[in-house]
Amino acid sequence: MTDYPKPPFAPQPQPVPGDQGRMVPYPDCGETSYKGSGRLTGKIALITGADSGIGRAVAIAFAREGADVAVSYLDEHEDAKETARWVEEAGRKCLLLPGDLAQKENCLAIVKATVEEFGRIDVLVNNAAFQMTHKTLEEISDEEWLKTLDINVTAMFRICKAALPHMKSGGSIINTSSVNSDMPNATLVAYATTKGAIANFTAGLAQMLAERGIRVISVAPGPIWTPLIVSTMPEEQVTHFGEQTPLGRPGQPVEVAPIYVLLASDEASYISGSRYGVTGGKPIL
Ligand code: NAD
Ligand code: MG
Repeated sequence: MTDYPKPPFAPQPQPVPGDQGRMVPYPDCGETSYKGSGRLTGKIALITGADSGIGRAVAIAFAREGADVAVSYLDEHEDAKETARWVEEAGRKCLLLPGDLAQKENCLAIVKATVEEFGRIDVLVNNAAFQMTHKTLEEISDEEWLKTLDINVTAMFRICKAALPHMKSGGSIINTSSVNSDMPNATLVAYATTKGAIANFTAGLAQMLAERGIRVISVAPGPIWTPLIVSTMPEEQVTHFGEQTPLGRPGQPVEVAPIYVLLASDEASYISGSRYGVTGGKPIL
């Protein structure tokens, strides 16, 4: 309970998609703390939304466990360079792949570039997401509804489909869902809908890909201190972020990364089709 920052936090509004470098306190992605032990030696990982937050923590952990990492992100070049710096400091290769995953061609391009650079994909982490807070349904435009589905759900489908020909038996796909997948926050209706879809897609795809030896799993984080939060939530929610969890504080990205390491590792050979919570004490269904 006391290892990491607790609310209240200072209000710190930012435009979407948010700049991790401007956050106070600075999110802990394990830059100076995560210790690897060779659990992903020689694997190739493609991680979306890996410039910042949970994706960066996963990239750093994967690199320290021995994986080369392709980092997809929207346009936060400074945050992405920082992720690359830590991956390379771990002695692994990092490929930076900016681009809007709402566009089909960019979904195909990140897979193509990863395969051109590394030859295959062992671990695919679909983690990029968009959300916006709204008090009423009328506030949500058709464009925003479709954009939320495109980035959070359709991009995941397209990237999985493009990556599969380059994945062998023993590979894994890990999709970032949310506690919103079955306990929707009313102010995040479009986003929560996509997070339910991600969990459901994961469960179906796991059964479909079992005979090919590819595992598919989703992770359901609770409140985690990342740019997504300060760039999309009202100030009063940012100030008290994570307070309502039994641990009384938000999680830091570094506290989410270890489950991705386990799920990507060969030790998880019988783990597929399910959803794992990282929630600070709140049960998930
Ligand atoms: P984050 O802002 O650090 O990461 C999200 C990333 O998605 C961004 O860095 C951005 O580069 C990328 N992205 C957004 N729109 C994109 C687009 N159009 N094209 C390409 N990339 C795009 O925030 P985070 O909280 O670490 O988010 C990672 C995942 O965790 C998301 O799927 C989010 O829904 C999930 N999650 C977060 C929380 C939380 O409390 N922070 C809780 C549950 C689930
Ligand atoms: Mg970012």
